[in-house]
Formats: sequence, C-alpha cells, structure tokens
Amino acid sequence: MIRMGNPLKRRLSDVGFEELEGKTFELVLVVEMLCEVCEEPLRTGERSLRRIQTLSKEDYQNLLNRAPAHDRVEVDVEDGKIYLFDHDFPGDIHPECIGRL
Ligand SMILES: [Zn+2]
Repeated sequence: MIRMGNPLKRRLSDVGFEELEGKTFELVLVVEMLCEVCEEPLRTGERSLRRIQTLSKEDYQNLLNRAPAHDRVEVDVEDGKIYLFDHDFPGDIHPECIGRL
C-alpha cells in the first residue's frame, strides 16, 4: 500500500524562506511509477541526492527556480527533507485497471 498525503509535507511555494532559513535539508528525488490506464502511482522510488543548506534568500530562490523542472516540490520542515517529485510510465498497470482496458 502506498502511503499518500503526508500532512507534514507542504508545497515549497507555500513555505516561506523564513521557515527554511539556516537549516540543512536532505534533497530526496521521488519517482512515481504511474499506471498506464489511470495515471495513479503503482509504486514510488526514493533516492537521496545530497544535503543542502538554505542560508540565504538566494538558496531559497534556487530551489524555487528548479521546482518547475519537477512535477512538484514538497518540504517537510520538521523532518528536514525536501522532496522533488518526478514520474515515469514503466509500461505497467494496476491489476484492477485491467478491466478498464
Ligand atoms: Zn491504474
């Protein structure tokens, strides 16, 4: 079962620089493997990229600038993680979606 909608994760655009200032975050790339039929996730893969520090507004702006390259960017301030979401179509479908083909 895929855990969705962690309430601690918020969109980067909803989190101001003030909340991130002076903190270290782990950048995590999350690739959601989507079903060819319903385009909902079949599974997700997570990979830690590197650690970053948001010391200046420029660091924050750099994050905002790279956000459009991803499906969405979410921040878990309490856990110190920034999630970059991408997606892929592995050519697979949910078992329950077979009937909809
Ligand atoms: Zn499906």
